[in-house]
Amino acid sequence: MRPAHYSRCWLATLLLAYGLFAAAAAPAEELLTVAEKTDYQATSRHAEVMAFCQALGKQSPLVRQISMGKSNEGRDLPLLILSDPPIATPEEARRSGKIVVMAFANIHAGEVEGKEAMQMLARELTLPQGHPLLKKLVILINPILNADGNEKIDPKHRAHQGGPTGGVGLRENAQGLDLNRDFVKLRSPEIRALVDCFNRWDPWLIVDCHSTNGTFHRFLITYDGPRHPSTDPAIHKLSQTELLDEIRRRFEAQSPYKGFFYGFFTQDRTSWYGYPPQPRYGIQYVALRNRLGILSEAYTYADFKDRVAATKAFVLSNFQYVVDQDAFLRRLLPAADQRSANLGMEADRSHDLVLRYKVVPLPGRYDVLGYVEEVKDGKRVPTSQTKDYPVTYLGGTEPTLTVKRPWVYVIPPEQVAVIATLQRHGVELHELTEPKEVEAEITLVNQLRQAERPFQNVRLLTTQQTTKRTAAVNLPSGSVIVPMKQRLGTLAGVLLEAESEDGFLTWNLFGESVKEGADYPVVRILQPMEWSTRPLPPLNQD
Ligand SMILES: [Zn+2]
Repeated sequence: MRPAHYSRCWLATLLLAYGLFAAAAAPAEELLTVAEKTDYQATSRHAEVMAFCQALGKQSPLVRQISMGKSNEGRDLPLLILSDPPIATPEEARRSGKIVVMAFANIHAGEVEGKEAMQMLARELTLPQGHPLLKKLVILINPILNADGNEKIDPKHRAHQGGPTGGVGLRENAQGLDLNRDFVKLRSPEIRALVDCFNRWDPWLIVDCHSTNGTFHRFLITYDGPRHPSTDPAIHKLSQTELLDEIRRRFEAQSPYKGFFYGFFTQDRTSWYGYPPQPRYGIQYVALRNRLGILSEAYTYADFKDRVAATKAFVLSNFQYVVDQDAFLRRLLPAADQRSANLGMEADRSHDLVLRYKVVPLPGRYDVLGYVEEVKDGKRVPTSQTKDYPVTYLGGTEPTLTVKRPWVYVIPPEQVAVIATLQRHGVELHELTEPKEVEAEITLVNQLRQAERPFQNVRLLTTQQTTKRTAAVNLPSGSVIVPMKQRLGTLAGVLLEAESEDGFLTWNLFGESVKEGADYPVVRILQPMEWSTRPLPPLNQD
């Protein structure tokens, strides 16, 4: 059905033809989000998001909708593909030569503004006609990643936030997992589906939409970018210099809001810090894949309507940045891929894998726009009086433990969970087709610490003390080989190293085979050699 406001009046038709009518046009009823229909008192259910996506697909020829996969409880995880001309598959996207970008929302289903904002953004980019960005980009949008958590809507959840009064969903998925801690171990079908989407579509910039917890400030959006010290050096440098500033400038120019780095005050209010840049977090994981991961955090105490508007403007600013920097990014990211594919033993030590690090301030001082605070009932609360706090931003890292890249890692064939998880990450693997005696570097785990309590259903492990030795090893036929010289080599190294701060050992993927006084199952081979191998057949995805 065509909306009533599509007047027959020739003037309106003319304006529409020139796209000048777009801002004034109110969308048809089925193309209003639940937030808009309820004056921001409620957020959409999964079925309502699906109906919206379908209605949008009917109205605009520039929209394709597919399913990324299914949630634990069998709900479709919708993926909108926006492009002018339209595109339906990753192969078509590659043939078009356009850069693919992505935004996903509701990974924490209590943080719902991104879900509403992404539906609206998809509508505004495609109706009444294609936005100029769609000529340059293929835009992927998943508005509802934690589809099951979303359906547990309850007004008691996140009651401190500025609406919606009708309630929001749960942070965790149906397995009780925090999906934004699942990017190393890939235990949830939702993150498996998302990573599969990364592997298929290869988006160059990915925005992950959240809302904040805690700190009081006057920024509607706080953001973060690649910070893991093993991130490709050019991407890391961009992230620590102009990337986030450039996006912020666009966001502030097109909205009444302000933006800043995501984080919290230290107790003494002199520093600002977010979280350790570990690959368990989506955007840090994306960076270890040589792509730009951007975190969007809407200010939780702001009105729901402002949070939605700010998230929409921020995501759009990211996409605009990619178009404005098209030529630069077409040099930067392929060069990062080239570097990963060529780094090996001959590379200088500046390309060592960083396994552990400490957090350090970035140069310069920043002002956090906050409030005068007072203590009430033992809690710090803001007054209505504004105050700017000069701070250092602890957004940098300094390596404390590094390791030289091996030529390959070798994994025993019985480590099926480790091998399958690497395959899900999209890491290229081979298998030995003959038994082979090789000289390898072996890591003895002298001391292992296990967390007292489970986190995400796992009692996390950390190696406290290890000893490395070089010895002859008999590798059985079927041993799985992970070449470092590949696009995802850095990621594979961070996942596989025994001393990695956030790798497979951390999440106990090796089970009983990792213990104190025993050799770590994965060995490192430092020098290239001749052997008979073949590509490992793809994982039988369930
Ligand atoms: Zn969140």
